[in-house]
Amino acid sequence: MYVIERPTLDALLAVLQQRAFTLVGPTVRDGAIVYDEIAAATDLPIGWTDEQEGGTYHLERRDDAAVFGYVVGPQSWKRFLFPPTVRLWHARRETGGFQVQADNEVPPRFAFIGVRACELHAIGIQDKVLLAGAHVDSVYEARRQHVFIVAVNCGQAGGTCFCVSMQTGPQVSSGFDLALTEIIENDRHAFVVEVGTDRGAEVLHELPHRAASEEEQQAARLVVERAAGQMGRRMDTTDIKELLYRHAEHPRWDDVANRCLACGNCTMVCPTCFCTTVEDTTDLTGEHAERWRTWDSCFTLDFSYIHGGSVRASAKSRYRQWLTHKLASWIDQFGTSGCVGCGRCITWCPVAIDITEEVSALRASENATLASAQEKHDGNP
Ligand code: SF4
Ligand code: SF4
Repeated sequence: MYVIERPTLDALLAVLQQRAFTLVGPTVRDGAIVYDEIAAATDLPIGWTDEQEGGTYHLERRDDAAVFGYVVGPQSWKRFLFPPTVRLWHARRETGGFQVQADNEVPPRFAFIGVRACELHAIGIQDKVLLAGAHVDSVYEARRQHVFIVAVNCGQAGGTCFCVSMQTGPQVSSGFDLALTEIIENDRHAFVVEVGTDRGAEVLHELPHRAASEEEQQAARLVVERAAGQMGRRMDTTDIKELLYRHAEHPRWDDVANRCLACGNCTMVCPTCFCTTVEDTTDLTGEHAERWRTWDSCFTLDFSYIHGGSVRASAKSRYRQWLTHKLASWIDQFGTSGCVGCGRCITWCPVAIDITEEVSALRASENATLASAQEKHDGNP
């Protein structure tokens, strides 16, 4: 564990730029904290924080100059690793046929600044889905392979966060090159730095730094403990896969379907959702055609369209598919949950449907049924 002073953050970004990385980090735009290319630390949301609840999000000024004093916004890093639209190939008509050319872009070497623990887990999940199977996603692979990650331990939790329940945060544990914990005490503003890779150590070596004292390490631990104690939501994940499979026909799915707009926001903001569709387009002359891949959502009617009909025609079946995939069948498919507890789907659902509330309603209903059966049994031995 090391310490860099606050001004050294600017030097850290400069060193990464000298090493030909394109910096991507949080910045304020359109009333939200979004991830975008940044040029310097002054582009970061200094002195801003966010307030989040089911269906609501807004920014507020802090009374200090914290650089990372907010939680996750509507975007995730998947926007850069697995872009919303990608041209896969284009074709041009030629005499006697047509010529197809693949679009093998050479992506930038990204340095991600300010990646949270839940987001590192989400990247790990997408690595598993898009790189570890029989069919490697070449677009993701090209963008992912050089990424330098500067992670940040959360110093506060949002109103919709539940990473503690999902065991994905708020402390970063792996998958980073450098991890920062921001310490603001009295007139002190510094970062405790943990080194995750040799590459991270090389970058740190180029910066003014020193070993962290025991007191500074303790201060860093307290920052994370404070965030862990502030979780806005929790989810009991005991036997969650079996719970959901047992209740595929529960009337609760009708209740949520009455509220759900099938807008797909929850899938767009989710850092682990990876479904796409492919569309072909031509110009009016018929001389040129292109194939594009775009993010899709299991909430659209077309997503499950097969041979003249949609398998999931109702909002009920689509919401059930999404939640059950996230928390149950994802475990069968990929060996992990598909949810990292970031809370985005709760914040950005326009009608405040809450994944934690839905799970707890199913569990409460099951517990009530079991208790009632037990009472009957006890009353009629
Ligand atoms: S399901 Fe919701 S809380 Fe879980 S990772 Fe996706 S957006 Fe975050
Ligand atoms: S749960 Fe909310 S965000 Fe997701 S599709 Fe339904 S209304 Fe949209």
